[in-house]
Amino acid sequence: MVYKCSVFGCKGNYASGQKVSIFKFPKDPKLSKIWETRVMRENFKPTTSSRICELHFRKEDVLRETEYFDENTDHTSFSS
Ligand SMILES: [Zn+2]
Repeated sequence: MVYKCSVFGCKGNYASGQKVSIFKFPKDPKLSKIWETRVMRENFKPTTSSRICELHFRKEDVLRETEYFDENTDHTSFSS
């Protein structure tokens, strides 16, 4: 299963977009809220299948928050 980015207008991992690393929403409610603001969709509520791609994080954010991530997508499973 290839997850796609939830962020409004983002083409991460879409057939026409670039291949990116995708991250699950954190279990920590406070962190999750921060992520929700990055999705830029009205009334967005993350589900267990919601993901945000690396394009919406600064490099240092990813490093700092990596401990909250359970997985990366398997880039080799991407089908275009
Ligand atoms: Zn994205």
